[in-house]
Amino acid sequence: MAEAIDLLIVGGGITGQSAALTAAGAGARVAIVDMAQNVGSHANAGSLHVQMQSRFLRLNPHLAENVESSLPLYLAAVAEWDVLDEALGGVELTREGGLMLAEGADQMAFLREKAEREAKKGLAVDILERPELERIAPYLGPNIVGAEICRDEGKVNPLIANRKMNARLSALGVRHIADRIIGIEAGDGKPAAIGQARHKAAHILIAAAWGTEALTRSLGLRLPTPPEPLHMNITEAGEYAIKHLVQHAERSITLKQFRSGQVVIGGGWPARQNGVESTPRVRGDSLLGNVALAAAIAPGIAGLRVLRTWAGVNTPVDGKATIGPVRPGARVSLSLPGDAGYTLGPIVGRSAAEQILGLPSQIDPTPFAPNRWYD
Ligand SMILES: Cc1cc2nc3c(=O)[nH]c(=O)nc-3n(C[C@H](O)[C@H](O)[C@H](O)COP(=O)(O)OP(=O)(O)OC[C@H]3O[C@@H](n4cnc5c(N)ncnc54)[C@H](O)[C@@H]3O)c2cc1C
Repeated sequence: MAEAIDLLIVGGGITGQSAALTAAGAGARVAIVDMAQNVGSHANAGSLHVQMQSRFLRLNPHLAENVESSLPLYLAAVAEWDVLDEALGGVELTREGGLMLAEGADQMAFLREKAEREAKKGLAVDILERPELERIAPYLGPNIVGAEICRDEGKVNPLIANRKMNARLSALGVRHIADRIIGIEAGDGKPAAIGQARHKAAHILIAAAWGTEALTRSLGLRLPTPPEPLHMNITEAGEYAIKHLVQHAERSITLKQFRSGQVVIGGGWPARQNGVESTPRVRGDSLLGNVALAAAIAPGIAGLRVLRTWAGVNTPVDGKATIGPVRPGARVSLSLPGDAGYTLGPIVGRSAAEQILGLPSQIDPTPFAPNRWYD
């Protein structure tokens, strides 16, 4: 007979894995069931975001309040990455700060106003004019007139983090089950995740990113999780110069270097996807536009060859995390970062597991309760 499971986690990306780490670390018997499709955590750029991302605000002005009210969670999230870096034995985490660049007076005004709002939420932000900026970021091109710096921001190497996380979970005895879950049974008894097999557990945590919508419909939630297929690039190694996480006040870009010297270029250029479960494909115009913009921002990288491009699926939802039981006291819970999911995944996963196990919580999860999704 299969061993009983205390916590079954549907979805084995960074959020589900972080929940598993917390729960298994506290002695629970944990299994992760995953269909290994469009894992955002395997496609992402490793940016640790804290300041409000201009791209999200531009695309979703009606959700600005959700992002702004979540800023303390972002601070807790980067602190959680510090803990994870230590616990996993190093994931190339650096926190040299993040720059959001401006190319004119309008963009500087936007950044000033944004920085004021962020400072009120406790973020370590400043506005830098060109001379000051040039001292810390001499790699920037001549069109950049200034920037907002958020000193809380940083980066990790997700290839290292994912590998070390997998090894740690295996060492803790977390079981991995390959299955595509098509429904959740949440009756009075033990809940079950239904796939090719029926997986029962004392508690189920849904950490399925884009797959969450389909799994929560029958639980009485209307929680839209449309996939957002995005483009990424990585270059050959150059001199290690871009130590910040670099973004732009108006244009879609994230730019940084791994310690290897490879430049990671992304930031929201679209990829092609044909249906929620299909594998996204790279678009040529995204490849060219994304790297051309990167070279204009940091001309020193223009000679580096792009080694690899890929497409992955992001799940931004409403810019606010969803954490907790689907109904008070229910034995099915949710953990959905809401945006910047690789940054937020560890704190969101941990918090969901802490609630399930009745452990003291690192954060107050009340604002993130699933009740805003009740049908
Ligand atoms: C190109 C790209 C770059 C990004 N860059 C960054 C970045 O730099 N910084 C940042 O903070 N965020 C970034 N993100 C966002 C981030 O990667 C994701 O939000 C984050 O990884 C989500 O983690 P997760 O564990 O919640 O979900 P995922 O990692 O997406 O995992 C969800 C899992 O659920 C499984 N699943 C779904 N449905 C089912 C089902 N029915 N049955 C079984 N399994 C199921 C999937 O197989 C998958 O393994 C980026 C995203 C993309 C696509």
